[in-house]
Amino acid sequence: MKISVPRETHLGETRAPLTPDSAAKLLKLGAQLEVEAGLGQAAGHADEAYVKAGATIATDRQALLSSADIVLRLRKPAVEEIVLLKPGCIHASLLDPFKEKALVQAFAERGVSAISMEFIPRTTRAQKMDVLSSQANLGGYEAVILAARYANKIFPMMTTAAGTILPAKVFIIGVGVAGLQAIATAKRLGAKVTAYDTRPVVEEQVKSLGAQFLKIDVGETGQTKDGYAKALTEEQIQKQRDAMRKTCGDSDIVITAAQVFGRKAPILVTAEMLNAMKPGSVVVDLAVETGGNVEGVVYDQVTDRNGVKIVGMANLPGRVPLHASQVYSANLTALIEEFWDKQEKRFVLKLDDEIIKGCLVTHGGKIVNEKLIAQPT
Ligand code: NAD
Repeated sequence: MKISVPRETHLGETRAPLTPDSAAKLLKLGAQLEVEAGLGQAAGHADEAYVKAGATIATDRQALLSSADIVLRLRKPAVEEIVLLKPGCIHASLLDPFKEKALVQAFAERGVSAISMEFIPRTTRAQKMDVLSSQANLGGYEAVILAARYANKIFPMMTTAAGTILPAKVFIIGVGVAGLQAIATAKRLGAKVTAYDTRPVVEEQVKSLGAQFLKIDVGETGQTKDGYAKALTEEQIQKQRDAMRKTCGDSDIVITAAQVFGRKAPILVTAEMLNAMKPGSVVVDLAVETGGNVEGVVYDQVTDRNGVKIVGMANLPGRVPLHASQVYSANLTALIEEFWDKQEKRFVLKLDDEIIKGCLVTHGGKIVNEKLIAQPT
Protein backbone atom coordinates (compact mmCIF):
# COMPACT_ATOMS: atom_id res chain seq x y z
CA MET A 1 0.00 0.00 0.00
CA LYS A 2 1.45 3.33 -0.99
CA ILE A 3 1.33 6.33 1.36
CA SER A 4 2.00 9.74 -0.21
CA VAL A 5 2.70 12.90 1.75
CA PRO A 6 2.57 16.15 -0.25
CA ARG A 7 4.21 19.35 0.96
CA GLU A 8 1.90 21.88 2.65
CA THR A 9 1.03 24.77 0.33
CA HIS A 10 -0.81 27.13 2.70
CA LEU A 11 1.04 30.46 2.80
CA GLY A 12 3.22 30.66 5.91
CA GLU A 13 2.62 27.08 7.05
CA THR A 14 5.76 25.82 8.75
CA ARG A 15 4.48 22.51 10.11
CA ALA A 16 4.98 19.17 8.38
CA PRO A 17 2.37 16.40 8.55
CA LEU A 18 5.02 13.69 8.84
CA THR A 19 8.44 13.68 10.53
CA PRO A 20 11.33 11.33 9.65
CA ASP A 21 10.75 9.40 12.91
CA SER A 22 7.14 8.72 11.94
CA ALA A 23 8.22 7.87 8.39
CA ALA A 24 10.40 5.09 9.82
CA LYS A 25 7.40 3.75 11.79
CA LEU A 26 5.18 3.64 8.68
CA LEU A 27 7.89 1.87 6.69
CA LYS A 28 8.29 -0.68 9.49
CA LEU A 29 4.60 -1.55 9.02
CA GLY A 30 5.42 -2.57 5.46
CA ALA A 31 3.99 0.52 3.74
CA GLN A 32 5.58 2.08 0.70
CA LEU A 33 6.24 5.76 1.49
CA GLU A 34 6.85 8.71 -0.80
CA VAL A 35 7.12 12.31 0.44
CA GLU A 36 7.32 15.48 -1.59
CA ALA A 37 10.70 17.24 -1.72
CA GLY A 38 10.96 19.94 0.96
CA LEU A 39 8.21 18.38 3.12
CA GLY A 40 9.87 19.04 6.47
CA GLN A 41 12.15 21.91 5.53
CA ALA A 42 10.35 24.66 7.51
CA ALA A 43 10.02 22.34 10.52
CA GLY A 44 13.73 21.56 10.59
CA HIS A 45 13.75 18.21 8.73
CA ALA A 46 15.85 17.98 5.56
CA ASP A 47 14.91 15.61 2.70
CA GLU A 48 17.97 13.49 3.60
CA ALA A 49 16.42 12.67 6.99
CA TYR A 50 13.37 11.15 5.25
CA VAL A 51 15.63 9.25 2.83
CA LYS A 52 17.62 7.95 5.81
CA ALA A 53 14.35 6.71 7.33
CA GLY A 54 13.72 4.77 4.10
CA ALA A 55 11.24 7.04 2.28
CA THR A 56 11.43 8.05 -1.39
CA ILE A 57 11.45 11.74 -2.33
CA ALA A 58 9.02 12.86 -5.05
CA THR A 59 9.51 15.93 -7.20
CA ASP A 60 6.37 15.44 -9.32
CA ARG A 61 3.44 16.44 -7.04
CA GLN A 62 0.75 15.28 -9.48
CA ALA A 63 2.30 11.82 -9.82
CA LEU A 64 2.75 11.64 -6.04
CA LEU A 65 -0.95 12.31 -5.46
CA SER A 66 -2.34 10.16 -8.28
CA SER A 67 -0.33 7.08 -7.29
CA ALA A 68 -1.39 7.12 -3.60
CA ASP A 69 -3.53 4.57 -1.77
CA ILE A 70 -3.34 6.84 1.28
CA VAL A 71 -2.62 10.59 1.31
CA LEU A 72 -1.55 12.20 4.59
CA ARG A 73 -1.50 15.97 5.08
CA LEU A 74 -1.95 18.63 7.68
CA ARG A 75 -4.26 21.21 6.10
CA LYS A 76 -7.19 20.69 3.76
CA PRO A 77 -6.27 20.31 0.07
CA ALA A 78 -7.24 22.69 -2.71
CA VAL A 79 -10.46 21.46 -4.37
CA GLU A 80 -8.55 21.33 -7.70
CA GLU A 81 -6.27 18.62 -6.32
CA ILE A 82 -9.10 16.18 -5.55
CA VAL A 83 -9.42 15.06 -9.20
CA LEU A 84 -5.80 13.93 -9.07
CA LEU A 85 -6.60 11.32 -6.41
CA LYS A 86 -7.36 7.69 -7.22
CA PRO A 87 -11.03 6.79 -6.65
CA GLY A 88 -11.11 4.54 -3.56
CA CYS A 89 -8.02 6.06 -1.94
CA ILE A 90 -7.96 7.29 1.67
CA HIS A 91 -7.19 10.94 2.44
CA ALA A 92 -6.50 12.05 6.04
CA SER A 93 -6.03 15.70 7.05
CA LEU A 94 -7.75 18.59 8.79
CA LEU A 95 -10.70 19.48 6.51
CA ASP A 96 -12.77 22.15 8.28
CA PRO A 97 -15.75 20.11 7.02
CA PHE A 98 -18.57 22.24 8.47
CA LYS A 99 -17.43 25.17 6.33
CA GLU A 100 -15.89 23.36 3.36
CA LYS A 101 -19.02 21.96 1.77
CA ALA A 102 -17.68 22.07 -1.82
CA LEU A 103 -14.52 20.26 -0.76
CA VAL A 104 -16.44 17.50 1.02
CA GLN A 105 -18.72 17.16 -2.02
CA ALA A 106 -15.68 16.91 -4.32
CA PHE A 107 -14.24 14.09 -2.16
CA ALA A 108 -17.57 12.25 -2.34
CA GLU A 109 -17.85 12.66 -6.10
CA ARG A 110 -14.30 11.41 -6.62
CA GLY A 111 -15.05 8.31 -4.53
CA VAL A 112 -12.32 9.16 -2.00
CA SER A 113 -12.63 8.02 1.63
CA ALA A 114 -11.85 11.32 3.36
CA ILE A 115 -10.97 11.39 7.05
CA SER A 116 -11.39 14.68 8.89
CA MET A 117 -8.86 14.82 11.70
CA GLU A 118 -11.07 17.39 13.52
CA PHE A 119 -13.66 14.64 13.91
CA ILE A 120 -11.48 12.08 15.71
CA PRO A 121 -13.69 11.20 18.69
CA ARG A 122 -12.62 12.42 22.13
CA THR A 123 -12.34 9.00 23.68
CA THR A 124 -9.52 7.46 25.66
CA ARG A 125 -8.73 5.04 22.81
CA ALA A 126 -8.50 7.86 20.24
CA GLN A 127 -6.55 10.29 22.43
CA LYS A 128 -3.26 9.47 20.69
CA MET A 129 -4.82 10.55 17.35
CA ASP A 130 -6.35 13.79 18.64
CA VAL A 131 -4.74 16.56 16.56
CA LEU A 132 -7.02 19.28 17.97
CA SER A 133 -5.61 18.60 21.42
CA SER A 134 -1.99 18.23 20.33
CA GLN A 135 -2.05 21.53 18.44
CA ALA A 136 -4.23 23.45 20.93
CA ASN A 137 -1.82 22.51 23.71
CA LEU A 138 1.08 24.20 21.87
CA GLY A 139 -1.17 27.11 20.89
CA GLY A 140 -1.94 27.73 24.57
CA TYR A 141 1.76 27.77 25.40
CA GLU A 142 2.59 30.09 22.52
CA ALA A 143 -0.23 32.54 23.43
CA VAL A 144 1.45 33.17 26.79
CA ILE A 145 4.89 33.56 25.19
CA LEU A 146 3.42 36.13 22.76
CA ALA A 147 1.63 37.94 25.60
CA ALA A 148 4.91 38.13 27.53
CA ARG A 149 6.66 39.54 24.50
CA TYR A 150 4.10 42.32 23.92
CA ALA A 151 3.55 43.15 27.60
CA ASN A 152 5.20 46.24 29.08
CA LYS A 153 5.97 44.36 32.29
CA ILE A 154 7.40 41.08 33.51
CA PHE A 155 5.30 38.12 34.74
CA PRO A 156 6.98 37.04 38.01
CA MET A 157 7.11 38.80 41.33
CA MET A 158 10.60 40.08 42.17
CA THR A 159 11.83 41.41 45.46
CA THR A 160 14.92 43.48 44.75
CA ALA A 161 17.00 46.16 46.44
CA ALA A 162 15.19 48.63 44.23
CA GLY A 163 11.80 47.55 45.53
CA THR A 164 9.21 44.88 44.90
CA ILE A 165 7.78 44.13 41.48
CA LEU A 166 4.29 42.63 41.71
CA PRO A 167 3.37 39.62 39.56
CA ALA A 168 1.44 40.22 36.33
CA LYS A 169 -2.27 39.44 36.48
CA VAL A 170 -3.41 37.08 33.73
CA PHE A 171 -7.07 36.31 32.96
CA ILE A 172 -7.80 33.27 30.79
CA ILE A 173 -11.26 32.90 29.23
CA GLY A 174 -12.09 29.42 27.91
CA VAL A 175 -10.28 26.58 29.64
CA GLY A 176 -10.19 23.68 27.17
CA VAL A 177 -6.90 22.15 26.11
CA ALA A 178 -5.36 25.50 25.02
CA GLY A 179 -6.62 27.39 28.07
CA LEU A 180 -5.27 24.78 30.50
CA GLN A 181 -1.82 24.96 28.90
CA ALA A 182 -2.00 28.77 28.95
CA ILE A 183 -2.72 28.64 32.70
CA ALA A 184 0.17 26.23 33.30
CA THR A 185 2.60 28.33 31.23
CA ALA A 186 1.58 31.65 32.83
CA LYS A 187 1.92 30.06 36.30
CA ARG A 188 5.40 28.76 35.39
CA LEU A 189 6.37 32.32 34.47
CA GLY A 190 5.17 33.46 37.88
CA ALA A 191 1.93 35.29 37.00
CA LYS A 192 -1.17 35.47 39.15
CA VAL A 193 -3.80 33.66 37.08
CA THR A 194 -7.60 33.80 37.07
CA ALA A 195 -9.66 31.72 34.62
CA TYR A 196 -13.25 31.21 33.55
CA ASP A 197 -15.15 28.62 31.50
CA THR A 198 -18.84 27.89 31.10
CA ARG A 199 -18.38 24.17 31.77
CA PRO A 200 -18.63 23.69 35.56
CA VAL A 201 -16.24 20.67 35.51
CA VAL A 202 -13.41 23.06 34.66
CA GLU A 203 -13.32 24.75 38.08
CA GLU A 204 -11.55 21.79 39.66
CA GLN A 205 -8.94 21.64 36.84
CA VAL A 206 -8.23 25.38 37.12
CA LYS A 207 -7.73 25.13 40.88
CA SER A 208 -5.47 22.10 40.54
CA LEU A 209 -3.12 24.26 38.44
CA GLY A 210 -2.96 26.83 41.24
CA ALA A 211 -5.13 29.43 39.50
CA GLN A 212 -8.31 31.13 40.70
CA PHE A 213 -11.65 30.30 39.09
CA LEU A 214 -13.99 33.21 38.38
CA LYS A 215 -17.50 32.11 39.26
CA ILE A 216 -20.29 33.51 37.08
CA ASP A 217 -23.86 32.33 37.31
CA VAL A 218 -25.20 32.30 33.73
CA GLY A 219 -27.79 29.57 34.36
CA GLU A 220 -27.78 26.19 32.63
CA THR A 221 -24.56 25.48 30.61
CA GLY A 222 -23.15 21.95 30.48
CA GLN A 223 -21.21 20.06 27.84
CA THR A 224 -21.74 17.61 24.96
CA LYS A 225 -20.86 13.90 25.18
CA ASP A 226 -17.51 14.74 23.51
CA GLY A 227 -16.68 17.24 26.27
CA TYR A 228 -17.36 20.33 24.15
CA ALA A 229 -19.20 23.41 25.44
CA LYS A 230 -22.81 23.95 24.49
CA ALA A 231 -23.55 27.31 22.84
CA LEU A 232 -24.96 29.93 25.22
CA THR A 233 -27.90 32.21 24.49
CA GLU A 234 -27.19 35.90 23.76
CA GLU A 235 -28.66 36.72 27.20
CA GLN A 236 -26.27 34.30 28.95
CA ILE A 237 -23.30 35.72 27.02
CA GLN A 238 -24.28 39.25 28.09
CA LYS A 239 -24.39 38.13 31.75
CA GLN A 240 -20.95 36.62 31.27
CA ARG A 241 -19.55 39.84 29.72
CA ASP A 242 -20.96 41.96 32.56
CA ALA A 243 -19.29 39.73 35.13
CA MET A 244 -15.96 39.60 33.28
CA ARG A 245 -15.65 43.36 32.69
CA LYS A 246 -14.10 44.07 36.11
CA THR A 247 -11.63 41.16 35.89
CA CYS A 248 -10.53 42.32 32.41
CA GLY A 249 -10.00 45.85 33.76
CA ASP A 250 -7.90 44.49 36.65
CA SER A 251 -5.77 42.26 34.40
CA ASP A 252 -2.52 42.99 32.59
CA ILE A 253 -3.01 40.11 30.17
CA VAL A 254 -6.25 38.58 28.85
CA ILE A 255 -6.02 35.35 26.84
CA THR A 256 -9.19 34.14 25.15
CA ALA A 257 -9.56 30.53 24.00
CA ALA A 258 -13.33 30.01 24.08
CA GLN A 259 -14.78 27.97 21.24
CA VAL A 260 -17.97 26.06 20.50
CA PHE A 261 -17.30 23.07 18.22
CA GLY A 262 -18.61 23.57 14.68
CA ARG A 263 -19.74 27.16 15.28
CA LYS A 264 -18.33 30.68 15.12
CA ALA A 265 -16.55 31.63 18.37
CA PRO A 266 -18.61 33.86 20.72
CA ILE A 267 -17.57 37.53 21.14
CA LEU A 268 -16.73 37.69 24.84
CA VAL A 269 -14.42 40.70 25.13
CA THR A 270 -16.31 43.71 23.77
CA ALA A 271 -15.01 47.17 22.86
CA GLU A 272 -16.44 48.43 26.17
CA MET A 273 -14.40 45.82 28.07
CA LEU A 274 -11.27 46.77 26.12
CA ASN A 275 -11.89 50.41 27.11
CA ALA A 276 -11.81 49.29 30.75
CA MET A 277 -8.30 47.84 30.34
CA LYS A 278 -5.13 49.74 31.26
CA PRO A 279 -2.81 51.05 28.51
CA GLY A 280 0.09 48.59 28.20
CA SER A 281 -2.17 45.56 28.68
CA VAL A 282 -2.25 42.76 26.13
CA VAL A 283 -5.11 40.64 24.81
CA VAL A 284 -4.30 37.45 22.88
CA ASP A 285 -7.21 35.94 20.93
CA LEU A 286 -6.63 32.23 20.38
CA ALA A 287 -10.05 31.86 18.74
CA VAL A 288 -9.18 34.23 15.87
CA GLU A 289 -9.31 31.41 13.30
CA THR A 290 -12.96 30.69 14.12
CA GLY A 291 -14.03 34.35 14.13
CA GLY A 292 -12.43 35.57 17.37
CA ASN A 293 -13.53 36.15 20.97
CA VAL A 294 -12.40 39.78 20.97
CA GLU A 295 -14.33 42.56 19.28
CA GLY A 296 -12.25 44.19 16.53
CA VAL A 297 -9.45 41.58 16.52
CA VAL A 298 -7.65 41.57 13.17
CA TYR A 299 -6.76 38.17 11.73
CA ASP A 300 -3.01 37.52 11.85
CA GLN A 301 -2.20 41.06 13.05
CA VAL A 302 -1.25 42.84 16.24
CA THR A 303 -3.27 46.03 16.65
CA ASP A 304 -3.16 48.82 19.20
CA ARG A 305 -6.37 50.15 20.72
CA ASN A 306 -5.79 53.09 23.05
CA GLY A 307 -2.54 51.49 24.24
CA VAL A 308 -4.01 47.97 24.61
CA LYS A 309 -2.33 45.49 22.25
CA ILE A 310 -4.71 43.01 20.62
CA VAL A 311 -2.82 40.00 19.30
CA GLY A 312 -4.73 38.13 16.58
CA MET A 313 -1.88 36.03 15.22
CA ALA A 314 -3.08 32.89 13.43
CA ASN A 315 -1.51 29.43 13.52
CA LEU A 316 0.22 29.73 16.88
CA PRO A 317 1.37 26.07 16.81
CA GLY A 318 3.15 26.95 13.53
CA ARG A 319 5.47 29.22 15.57
CA VAL A 320 6.94 26.11 17.18
CA PRO A 321 6.95 23.90 14.06
CA LEU A 322 9.40 21.27 15.30
CA HIS A 323 7.20 20.19 18.18
CA ALA A 324 3.90 20.92 16.42
CA SER A 325 5.00 18.63 13.56
CA GLN A 326 6.26 16.00 16.00
CA VAL A 327 2.91 15.66 17.72
CA TYR A 328 0.71 16.05 14.61
CA SER A 329 2.78 13.40 12.86
CA ALA A 330 2.51 11.11 15.90
CA ASN A 331 -1.30 11.55 15.82
CA LEU A 332 -1.52 10.59 12.12
CA THR A 333 0.85 7.66 12.58
CA ALA A 334 -1.21 6.38 15.51
CA LEU A 335 -4.30 6.42 13.25
CA ILE A 336 -2.52 4.39 10.57
CA GLU A 337 -1.10 1.93 13.12
CA GLU A 338 -4.49 1.42 14.78
CA PHE A 339 -6.11 0.21 11.56
CA TRP A 340 -3.13 -1.50 9.91
CA ASP A 341 -3.39 -5.20 9.14
CA LYS A 342 0.14 -6.47 9.75
CA GLN A 343 -0.34 -9.72 7.79
CA GLU A 344 -1.85 -8.14 4.72
CA LYS A 345 0.26 -4.99 5.11
CA ARG A 346 -2.63 -2.64 4.46
CA PHE A 347 -4.87 -0.08 6.15
CA VAL A 348 -8.32 -1.50 6.81
CA LEU A 349 -11.13 1.05 6.88
CA LYS A 350 -13.36 -0.58 9.53
CA LEU A 351 -16.63 1.18 8.84
CA ASP A 352 -18.29 -0.03 12.04
CA ASP A 353 -15.41 1.07 14.31
CA GLU A 354 -16.29 4.03 16.59
CA ILE A 355 -13.18 6.00 15.60
CA ILE A 356 -13.74 5.55 11.84
CA LYS A 357 -17.45 6.25 12.21
CA GLY A 358 -16.55 9.49 13.97
CA CYS A 359 -13.96 10.83 11.54
CA LEU A 360 -14.82 9.42 8.09
CA VAL A 361 -16.70 12.10 6.13
CA THR A 362 -17.01 10.60 2.64
CA HIS A 363 -16.97 7.00 1.42
CA GLY A 364 -18.28 5.05 -1.57
CA GLY A 365 -19.30 8.24 -3.41
CA LYS A 366 -21.36 9.65 -0.53
CA ILE A 367 -21.14 11.95 2.48
CA VAL A 368 -21.35 9.47 5.36
CA ASN A 369 -20.70 11.47 8.53
CA GLU A 370 -23.59 11.94 10.95
CA LYS A 371 -22.22 15.27 12.24
CA LEU A 372 -22.26 16.69 8.70
CA ILE A 373 -25.62 15.22 7.82
CA ALA A 374 -27.12 16.71 11.03
CA GLN A 375 -25.05 19.90 10.89
CA PRO A 376 -25.67 22.42 13.70
CA THR A 377 -27.18 25.73 12.58
P1 NAD B 1 -12.75 23.92 22.45
O1 NAD B 1 -11.51 24.35 21.75
O2 NAD B 1 -13.95 23.54 21.65
O3 NAD B 1 -13.20 25.10 23.44
C1 NAD B 1 -12.31 25.70 24.34
C2 NAD B 1 -13.03 26.04 25.62
O4 NAD B 1 -13.94 27.13 25.43
C3 NAD B 1 -13.87 24.91 26.21
O5 NAD B 1 -13.37 24.57 27.47
C4 NAD B 1 -15.27 25.51 26.28
O6 NAD B 1 -15.99 25.05 27.40
C5 NAD B 1 -14.97 26.98 26.37
N1 NAD B 1 -16.08 27.90 26.06
C6 NAD B 1 -17.03 27.84 25.10
N2 NAD B 1 -17.87 28.89 25.17
C7 NAD B 1 -17.43 29.66 26.21
C8 NAD B 1 -17.85 30.88 26.78
N3 NAD B 1 -18.92 31.53 26.33
N4 NAD B 1 -17.16 31.36 27.84
C9 NAD B 1 -16.08 30.71 28.33
N5 NAD B 1 -15.62 29.55 27.82
C10 NAD B 1 -16.29 29.03 26.78
O7 NAD B 1 -12.45 22.76 23.48
P2 NAD B 1 -11.22 21.76 23.58
O8 NAD B 1 -10.07 22.47 24.14
O9 NAD B 1 -11.02 21.14 22.25
O10 NAD B 1 -11.71 20.67 24.62
C11 NAD B 1 -12.93 20.63 25.26
C12 NAD B 1 -12.90 19.59 26.36
O11 NAD B 1 -12.71 18.29 25.86
C13 NAD B 1 -11.82 19.80 27.39
O12 NAD B 1 -12.36 19.62 28.66
C14 NAD B 1 -10.87 18.71 27.16
O13 NAD B 1 -10.17 18.34 28.33
C15 NAD B 1 -11.77 17.63 26.67
N6 NAD B 1 -11.00 16.66 25.89
C16 NAD B 1 -11.15 15.33 26.15
C17 NAD B 1 -10.43 14.39 25.44
C18 NAD B 1 -10.56 12.94 25.71
O14 NAD B 1 -11.27 12.55 26.60
N7 NAD B 1 -9.89 12.09 24.95
C19 NAD B 1 -9.56 14.81 24.44
C20 NAD B 1 -9.44 16.17 24.18
C21 NAD B 1 -10.17 17.10 24.92
